[in-house]
Amino acid sequence: MKKVHIFNAGPCKLPQPAIEAGIEALKDFKGTGMSVIEISHRTKEWESIMDETVALWKELYNIPEGYHVLFLGGGASTQFCYVPFNLLSKKAAYLDTGVWAHKSMKEAKVIAEMFGGEVEVVASSESTTYNHIPKGWTIPTDADYFHITTNNTIYGTEIKEDIDSPVTLVADMSSDFMSRPVDVKKYGLIYGGAQKNVGPAGVTVVIVREDILGKVNHPLPTMIDYRTHIKGGSMFNTPPVFPIFIMHETMKWIKAQGGLEAIQKMNTEKANLLYNEIDNNPMFKGTVIDKADRSLMNVCFVMEDKYKEKEADFLAFSKECGMAGLKGHRSVGGFRASIYNACTMEDVQALVACMQEFAKKNA
Ligand SMILES: *Cc1c(COP(=O)(O)O)cnc(C)c1O
Repeated sequence: MKKVHIFNAGPCKLPQPAIEAGIEALKDFKGTGMSVIEISHRTKEWESIMDETVALWKELYNIPEGYHVLFLGGGASTQFCYVPFNLLSKKAAYLDTGVWAHKSMKEAKVIAEMFGGEVEVVASSESTTYNHIPKGWTIPTDADYFHITTNNTIYGTEIKEDIDSPVTLVADMSSDFMSRPVDVKKYGLIYGGAQKNVGPAGVTVVIVREDILGKVNHPLPTMIDYRTHIKGGSMFNTPPVFPIFIMHETMKWIKAQGGLEAIQKMNTEKANLLYNEIDNNPMFKGTVIDKADRSLMNVCFVMEDKYKEKEADFLAFSKECGMAGLKGHRSVGGFRASIYNACTMEDVQALVACMQEFAKKNA
C-alpha cells in the first residue's frame, strides 16, 4: 500500500490498529460468524462494546459521578440545536471564535426565537477572520449557559485550558476531543463529532451532567431530549454501530499510548516542531496573531508575502513528498496541517523536511 502522510482536517488519520480491528470485525465479530454490521445491537456481544466504550471515556477523561456519556447520530452540527433546545430558557451566551462557533450561535438564535429567549454574543473575533481568541470578556451571570468552541478547526486557534464559568459551561470539543486531559467537572456539557480525533464520521459523543437537564418549560421532541438517550443507554434507536466500534478501538489505542497526559505530551512536541519550522523558514508564516492561541491540532500557515505566487507550487511539491490534506480552508487560504492524535512525530518530521527542501530550492 502507498505510504501517505495524512494531514486531513476531518475525516482524518486514525490509529492503524483501530482500522485493522475494524477490518477483522467487519468479517467476523467476536467469533459470532457475523459481521459487526450484521449482528443485532440487542445482543450481549454488542452491548459489551457499548459498555466498554463508555467505560473507556469515563476512565480516560476521569469523568465524575453524575455525568452520562452518550453516543448519538447527526454530527456535532445537530448538537448546535440540541443544546439550546435542552438548556435555553431565557438567555444563552456564546463566544464567537470561528465558523463552527458562529454556526452553533445561529442555531441557538433560532431556538431562542421559538421560545422567547435571547442569545448574547460575549465576544467575537470575526472582524479579523478569527485570527485570535478574543480576550477580556466576562460571562453574563444571568445566562442559562455559556458556549465555547475549544478548538477552531478552520482558523487554528485553541482554548487550551478549562475555563471557570459562573454558569453552566458547554463546549464543542469536536476537533480537540481526547487530545489532552480535561477537568470535566468544570463543564455541564461537552460534545463533539468523532471524526477529528476519536473515530470515523457517524457518531457524536455527548458528555452531560444530569442535573442541568429538565429545566426548560418548552416541549422537547423525544429524539432531541438528552434524557431519552440517557434512559435508553444511547440505544433508544439503532446506534451507529460501526463508527462506535472503531471509536472503541481508538479509545483502547489512546489508553495504550499512556492515556491523555502522554497524548498531550506528544501533541505538544509535534506542534512545537511544526510551529518552529513555520517561524524559522523564510518562505512561510503562521496566520494566528497571538502565539498563545495557536492550536495543537490544526496548524495554519501561509506563504510569506514575497513568495505568495509559490503557493500552488508548494502544494504540488508536498504531494510529491507524499503529503495529503495540506490545502488550507477556503476562508483562510494557504495551508493547514491537521496533526490530531493519530498523526505521528514521523509524519510531522516529514512535513518539516519537505518545507525545508522547498525553501532550499525556492527561497
Ligand atoms: C468539524 C466540526 C464540526 C462539525 O462536525 P459535524 O460532525 O460534521 O457536524 C463542529 N464543530 C467543530 C469544532 C468542528 O471541527
